[in-house]
Amino acid sequence: MVSATAAVVHEHGGGFALQEIEVPEPGPFQVRVRMRAVGICHTDIAVAGGHRDVPTPVVLGHEGAGVVEAVGSAATSLEAGARVVLSFAACRHCAACVTGHPALCVRAIELNFGCQPASGSSAIRARDGSPLHGSFFGQSSFATYALVHADAVVPIPDGFPFELAAPLGCSVQTGAGAVWRSAGIAPGDTVVVNGVGAVGLSAAMAASAAGAAHVIAVDVTPSRLRTALEVGATSAVDGRTEDIRELVRVLTPAGADAVIDTTAVPSVIERSLEALRLGGTLAMIATGRGDDSVRLSKMVGKHVVGVVQGDSVPSQSIPQIIAMQQSGRFPLEKLVTTYPFDDIATAIDDMEAGAAIKPVLLMPCRRGTRTGVRRTAESD
Ligand SMILES: [Zn+2]
Ligand SMILES: [Zn+2]
Repeated sequence: MVSATAAVVHEHGGGFALQEIEVPEPGPFQVRVRMRAVGICHTDIAVAGGHRDVPTPVVLGHEGAGVVEAVGSAATSLEAGARVVLSFAACRHCAACVTGHPALCVRAIELNFGCQPASGSSAIRARDGSPLHGSFFGQSSFATYALVHADAVVPIPDGFPFELAAPLGCSVQTGAGAVWRSAGIAPGDTVVVNGVGAVGLSAAMAASAAGAAHVIAVDVTPSRLRTALEVGATSAVDGRTEDIRELVRVLTPAGADAVIDTTAVPSVIERSLEALRLGGTLAMIATGRGDDSVRLSKMVGKHVVGVVQGDSVPSQSIPQIIAMQQSGRFPLEKLVTTYPFDDIATAIDDMEAGAAIKPVLLMPCRRGTRTGVRRTAESD
């Protein structure tokens, strides 16, 4: 057992409070990872705000990277000292899992949002014995240590920065996988990316790397559009003042081959469906508020797919993206802004204000620094 510092959500909407927790020895199929960096994803913020049915108190965080410190008796594929990135949980036995689609695992919701340890697994606990939920996305990596199923970690090369590895486990592989797997982009294609936050920018990089002829970024924030042009977009469109349909008509009269939507804004989706060629694919990543509607007539002749984690197989997609980053074809480093772990509140504020595209928290937390985080008495 080790002590760890975790950012705990005690109640939905109540923010993150740093407190000490206990992380036991790993179960047979688990590893304990000393976290070095963890990205913040919009899903963490949405869940902390109560937009999903996740029990509290809970440790969130699902873009972790770190070093394996202890290995379960049956986790023979890993050794202590391995540098790893953590990805989502899947059962690895259902039809989706065994046919190479673990993000569509029949148990995906339960394993990633249930926040209960699988049978035979060890679980984090509060120091005072009070209840504490973990295993968020199989990892709960807003903590200096995490317990993870050995199959959900992917080794990373020596020297590859943890702060670049962390977001590979969710945002980056989601955007890249939407392009490569869900939309099947080929060289010469035209791709529209609606919304260029971390996921959309990853999609733009992936489209560029795949040889797309035109990568059109649509957003309403000038700084994000500028970043999109730096990382591989060939055109940047302000969605408030410019019409994507006209631009696509000029570039490729038949229409775009794919639209990657990260906005879940019905009017944006409808406009981009009109810019999509017959037989083209709309890959929808964002889920919206649940009461949004898009007119069915706009979808005639189009493929529409809802994307989960880019349909990625992390053990394949993560090494692939790392190799591309190292060769300069996937400039992931342009997305990342780092913060000390105990500045999680500032990192979230900056993300929501658009000042940081992908905030990544660095561990261990620097004790004694002033923080904007609500601390509980337990951590003082
Ligand atoms: Zn995520
Ligand atoms: Zn499965």
